[in-house]
Amino acid sequence: MKIVVCINHTPDTETKVNVSQDGKSIDKTNVNWILNPYDEFAIEEALKTKEKFGGEVIAISLGNESHKESLRKSLAIGVDKAILLKDESERDSISVAKAISEEIKNHNADIIFFGKQSIDYYGEQLGIYIAELLSISVVSNVVKLEITDKKVVCEREIEGGKEVVETSIPCVITAQKGLNEPRYPSLKGIMASKSKQIEEKIPNKFDLLVETISMTKPSNERKRKIFEENQVTELVKILHEEAKVF
Ligand SMILES: Cc1cc2nc3c(=O)[nH]c(=O)nc-3n(C[C@H](O)[C@H](O)[C@H](O)COP(=O)(O)OP(=O)(O)OC[C@H]3O[C@@H](n4cnc5c(N)ncnc54)[C@H](O)[C@@H]3O)c2cc1C
Repeated sequence: MKIVVCINHTPDTETKVNVSQDGKSIDKTNVNWILNPYDEFAIEEALKTKEKFGGEVIAISLGNESHKESLRKSLAIGVDKAILLKDESERDSISVAKAISEEIKNHNADIIFFGKQSIDYYGEQLGIYIAELLSISVVSNVVKLEITDKKVVCEREIEGGKEVVETSIPCVITAQKGLNEPRYPSLKGIMASKSKQIEEKIPNKFDLLVETISMTKPSNERKRKIFEENQVTELVKILHEEAKVF
């Protein structure tokens, strides 16, 4: 089976991200970058699919030279081949999707895995755009996947429940937390990944359809609300629906 996994290189969740002076982008100084956490689930599912059906797993990332770190990590985890679509220019999600879909077309992929979302810009768009550009089906937020022959049965997480859907290969799957338990790179994998080549290509450019106007950090102001003894039901409702603590 020909399997592609798309990965992003994103700021570490522990990093305090600031807005640049232009007020439109992330200030990249002192930012620690990591493999996008949702993409670990995508890589794991890609490897499990290969282990079941045989074939090859190709990781693709579009971005600057630093994306090689996450591509190298994917190789250490077990991916067979890594491709960097090298670009630093301003891009919106659809322009990223068009460039990546052009590369995917070269590989005749049966299944393409994405994370549910990228933790940098929270777009949740790429997998869906790419399925459309390739004219294939997409199932998002997948927490369980069963592939038999060409049939693909997915359990999706939805508000307060789960939905089971069926599609067929070729398709795009976006991985939600819980889909699997991502494996760590082994020492042997890390050593082997150092000698593996990361193929570099220059992706095409496309017109931008969405422009960032401004970016701001949330205010540090804490919301306060005082409840009376007889408002326990309302308190529980707010903790559940707004604060989402349970
Ligand atoms: C070179 C470059 C320049 C950019 N410039 C700007 C800018 O100036 N202003 C701005 O606001 N945004 C910029 N972005 C961000 C861009 O607009 C998208 O937000 C970003 O590429 C991810 O799309 P998304 O947020 O829709 O991802 P999501 O749809 O949330 O990501 C879902 C999944 O798609 C995959 N994925 C995401 N990004 C990539 C990637 N780069 N390569 C491979 N797979 C990926 C991963 O599997 C991820 O889990 C830039 C991105 C790139 C790569």
